[in-house]
Amino acid sequence: MNNKNKDIQEIINHLKATGFVFQGSEIYGGLANTWDYGPLGSLLSRNVKNMWWKEFITKDPSNYALDTKILMNPKVWEASGHVANFSDPLIENKKNNKRYRADHIVEELFPEIDVNKFTKKELSDFIKENVKKYDNSDTDWSEIKEFHLMFETFQGVVIDKKEKIYLRPETAQGIFVNFKNVLRSTRSKLPFGVGQIGKSFRNEVTPGNFIFRTREFEQMELEIFSKPEESMEIYKKYLEKVWQFILKLGIKEKSIRFREHKEEELAHYSKATSDIEFLFPFGWGELLGVAHRGDFDLSAHSNFSGENLEYLDPITNTKYLPHVIEPSIGLDRLILALIVDSFEKETIENNETRIVLKLNKNISPYKVAILPLVKKLSENAYKIFEHLLEHDISATFDDSGTIGKRYRRQDSIGTYYSVTYDYDSLEDGKVTVRNRDTMEQERIEIKNLVNYLRK
Ligand code: ATP
Repeated sequence: MNNKNKDIQEIINHLKATGFVFQGSEIYGGLANTWDYGPLGSLLSRNVKNMWWKEFITKDPSNYALDTKILMNPKVWEASGHVANFSDPLIENKKNNKRYRADHIVEELFPEIDVNKFTKKELSDFIKENVKKYDNSDTDWSEIKEFHLMFETFQGVVIDKKEKIYLRPETAQGIFVNFKNVLRSTRSKLPFGVGQIGKSFRNEVTPGNFIFRTREFEQMELEIFSKPEESMEIYKKYLEKVWQFILKLGIKEKSIRFREHKEEELAHYSKATSDIEFLFPFGWGELLGVAHRGDFDLSAHSNFSGENLEYLDPITNTKYLPHVIEPSIGLDRLILALIVDSFEKETIENNETRIVLKLNKNISPYKVAILPLVKKLSENAYKIFEHLLEHDISATFDDSGTIGKRYRRQDSIGTYYSVTYDYDSLEDGKVTVRNRDTMEQERIEIKNLVNYLRK
């Protein structure tokens, strides 16, 4: 089914029921727009992070790992421009006391208009003139206010304005401020990349669409430092690399598209930026971005910190600031995309319907389920289960309910294989392996099971 025709509420209910995602602080009535990953969501998220890590760090000898802190010296955010500029245009409808992103209203109602061309005043005038009814309400629009997106907190025991610090709104700055440390300690030559996975925080005006936009989220970011003249080639290489990564995770090609930012949309320092968008049930939305950041960040940190962050080219013996290419992926959006893309309802035999998550078998919470045909066979089947766990195969065990019901349960959480241990297994040393997608079954020797599941 086309993602656009999928019912997001049905998907959310399914994720809550099966243990992928729970409402945050649920027993206290929740906290708006916070979601926790349950047992299955945690496994899925871990597997996706591992795939990213393997693809962009482990398998690429020119990329290094890093793990920097959420709390940083507030000067970092002055240098990066976040203190001065990291805000969204907020507009309030005084008729219903609701707040909106002014740019989003225009994008939604007038898709042919390019909002980036408007000044704040023009945006406000345009909305006042053209939007008389919105969100089922008459309108009386306020002026636009710039709403700052960084979370503030205070360090130390005394609440003192001087100790105000921020929760990082992106992981990238931790990489930039460590550029010199990585360069020195790895004795690396350009080009090289530095990547990390971690939490970021933005006090979004309008969070929502489930885990698409939340105030706390996780990013997988990579900064590739290179000679200025090589940077455009690296930008193009990474556009292709992230595209292939998304396909490798199992997302269908028809569900994604590139969107290149237009000249007027680009940050002043950026030579080029492209997003990969995904078709969510609520429409196309940004999944990730690849940005050419020039030398903006290193230059800003050089100026603010007084540290010279230039690179001494060992061949030409000249000094310059490297240029930076940044592929930045939001983990939670990617998880939502993977679930939406793989969620299917199918009519099978006896006019029964099954929900099946057709997740790539390498990221499914479980690759295989061990299912004894009847409880009496549980002990033997459990030994196979333990054997798989010892061999690092992600497996689950289920011996409650009819075998048909258990297959449905595994289908609905994306388990790729179901292995049934039956009375014949006692005699012939074989088990039945059922494939989630084709529902075809095969008899496999127990002693070959590990190899079979790994292939
Ligand atoms: P948007 O326009 O949707 O606010 P952005 O362009 O500000 O996103 P970037 O600053 O480029 O986002 O961040 C890189 C990635 O981090 C995004 O592509 C997205 O996957 C993820 N991301 C950003 N903000 C959020 C959020 N509030 N919730 C979840 N993921 C987010």
